[in-house]
Amino acid sequence: MTTNARQNKQWRPATNLVRGGLQRSGFDETCEALFLTSGFVYQSAEEAEQTFKQEIERYQYSRFGNPTVRMFEDRLALIEGAPFCRATATGMAAVFAALACFLRAGDRIVASRALFGSCYHIASVILPTYGISADFVDGTDLDQWEAALSRPAAAVFLETPSNPMLDIIDLAAVSTMAHAAGARVIVDNVFATPLLQHPLEFGADVVVYSATKHIDGQGRCLGGAILTADQSWFETSLIPFIRNTGPSLSPFNAWLMVKGLETLDLRVRRHCENAHTVASFLEGHPGVERTFFPYLASHPHHALARQQMSDGGSIVTINVRGGRAQAFGFLNALNLIDISNNLGDAKSLATHPATTTHQKLTVEERARLGILEDTVRISIGLEDAEDLIEDLDQALTRAAGG
Ligand SMILES: *Cc1c(COP(=O)(O)O)cnc(C)c1O
Repeated sequence: MTTNARQNKQWRPATNLVRGGLQRSGFDETCEALFLTSGFVYQSAEEAEQTFKQEIERYQYSRFGNPTVRMFEDRLALIEGAPFCRATATGMAAVFAALACFLRAGDRIVASRALFGSCYHIASVILPTYGISADFVDGTDLDQWEAALSRPAAAVFLETPSNPMLDIIDLAAVSTMAHAAGARVIVDNVFATPLLQHPLEFGADVVVYSATKHIDGQGRCLGGAILTADQSWFETSLIPFIRNTGPSLSPFNAWLMVKGLETLDLRVRRHCENAHTVASFLEGHPGVERTFFPYLASHPHHALARQQMSDGGSIVTINVRGGRAQAFGFLNALNLIDISNNLGDAKSLATHPATTTHQKLTVEERARLGILEDTVRISIGLEDAEDLIEDLDQALTRAAGG
């Protein structure tokens, strides 16, 4: 393996997405190589012994590390501006590993209530079985964070923008309060993508991704990643946890992800542009009660979104005028946009959170998050925005009985 000799951290993000972390084998291939191998061989018994004693650093077993996975980790680290990255098999493996490496029995975490369903399950159901308690706050209310963090806590976990109502949480303010309470801040940055928001710059300690979403972005495979600037935590907690518990990303999926990063800048620009165009259209449509998009002036946290994020993202959430019947009628009338709970995909996808992603919550819990019977989340893809608008327009008109 030869490291790309001209690789340097001074490259701009679009260049790093194409070339960052690239390591060529002795065959001088243009494209990143796929090392689809579980293990590696040693030249001698002595070399194997030295490897296991950690006297020499080399690939040993793909649960510990793999050259294709490393290229993905190194490339993503350059984009995030975080020196340390480990890839995982799914986004949820990243969330659980990051939390598990900070928490001990008797600890307490504080989390924003508006979380991805499985993240909420980890915090509210799994962690308590290990003696770790969780307190939930309205992430947009700094008074609630202040009250919850007036007592010591080990970790703060939050998602911004949140799923599906696109709440924006003040990363700098929450990080300051969290650190004063002794807590480390873990941010699920999926909705912002690694290009639109860099939580470490606002004081967060760890960033986690579901790479399944925009990083692959083409609906092919699952993956995740954990990024940090905390070398000591990374080396003494996270690496041994991953090596021994095995949430490792497969080399094949890492190869898809590294190729996904190559086009991420282009795709995210188009996602954001399309989403903004569609959101502006929906905001004026008689079949829509309310439209949520962080870069619309009508968004409740619009100023903070402009401050923290370099664009509005790819998700638009609406309240369809009427109720559940009209929301279902709208979804069923879509011709181009698919009904699917995934997001960040090249294809535009729409879902009814109250009966899919958030159906396990009670009506009251959903109402507290702003998820109503008429709420529909739309992940805006890479199609022509005019085709999306035509599809949304005819579906809304049909749902209204027009
Ligand atoms: C999808 C998602 C996850 C989980 O990722 P998987 O790759 O499906 O395990 C976590 N957080 C957010 C915000 C997500 O959208």
